[in-house]
Amino acid sequence: MVKHLPARVRGQVAEHVVRLKAEHAIIPGLAVVLVGEDPASQVYVRSKGKLTVEVGMHSVEHKLDVDTSEADLLAVIDQLNADAAIHGILVQLPLPNHLNEDLVISSISPAKDVDGFHISNVGLLGTGQKSMVPCTPLGCLMMLRDHFGSLSGCDAVVIGRSNIVGKPMAQLLLGDSCTVTIAHSRTKDLADVVRRADIVVAAVGRAEMVPGDWIKPGAVVIDVGINRIPAPEKGEGKMKLVGDVDYATCAEVAGAITPVPGGVGPMTIACLLANTLTATCRANGLPEPEGLTS
Ligand code: NAD
Repeated sequence: MVKHLPARVRGQVAEHVVRLKAEHAIIPGLAVVLVGEDPASQVYVRSKGKLTVEVGMHSVEHKLDVDTSEADLLAVIDQLNADAAIHGILVQLPLPNHLNEDLVISSISPAKDVDGFHISNVGLLGTGQKSMVPCTPLGCLMMLRDHFGSLSGCDAVVIGRSNIVGKPMAQLLLGDSCTVTIAHSRTKDLADVVRRADIVVAAVGRAEMVPGDWIKPGAVVIDVGINRIPAPEKGEGKMKLVGDVDYATCAEVAGAITPVPGGVGPMTIACLLANTLTATCRANGLPEPEGLTS
């Protein structure tokens, strides 16, 4: 279902970047700010930087010490807000505990908030207006549109109600005229709720919690979860990544399903680049690229 889509989206972004340079002498710029040395975050930031350069954009990384003060972090963001060569700013989460994530996110200029977490963008998305859309749900939406064409009238169940995945995912599905249910840790009879769905988006963070017998035959399953679990079959002490759905049993009944790793993750990065391109076009009063926004 998703095999070629991230590369196709990155290819479309790269073509637009070539045109922006040739016709307007503009190079989109993405700045990623990483505080501390969380190993998973370091891997994400490296791979974001590499792919940013690959599509022809200007990539800037700010690596700050784990004990950086809030004032110093806010000063870096202020400087990036004011930098005309930077069109997108991403602060890698989670931040160390002494930093207030809400305050940090709200200090990013909404126009450069390519993660779509700023309260202005959340409000715009919630009211169906043009906004910056969080990358992971946007990537899921693109996969679903690619598969179905129109999502109108589909029954969609989103498992998880976080601000970064579950809620914006539900808004996007609603925007495409799905009938949307948001399920969460207090949902009664989750299995029955999921069994009604044509589209299941699992964003929980619990390894393989959705078994195949919850899935309606032919339903499309998008697995957002990333869970690290022991993999004794690979050797002592080895670990592996799995999603929130039990891939083997769900794949037997689903019409299509995304794997973990290699499904939603690459689409998230492709959408980060798409958002940076969109932000660049908006900042310069140019038409937005088609098919790369919600
Ligand atoms: P979160 O912890 O903020 O939210 C989890 C949600 O799951 C909560 O709303 C909670 O109500 C719900 N939940 C918990 N237990 C449940 C249960 N037993 N039944 C039903 N619902 C339950 O997590 P998040 O930030 O939304 O991330 C979810 C998962 O997606 C994590 O594994 C995360 O690593 C992954 N993720 C992946 C990407 C990507 O690019 N692939 C991006 C973001 C998050």
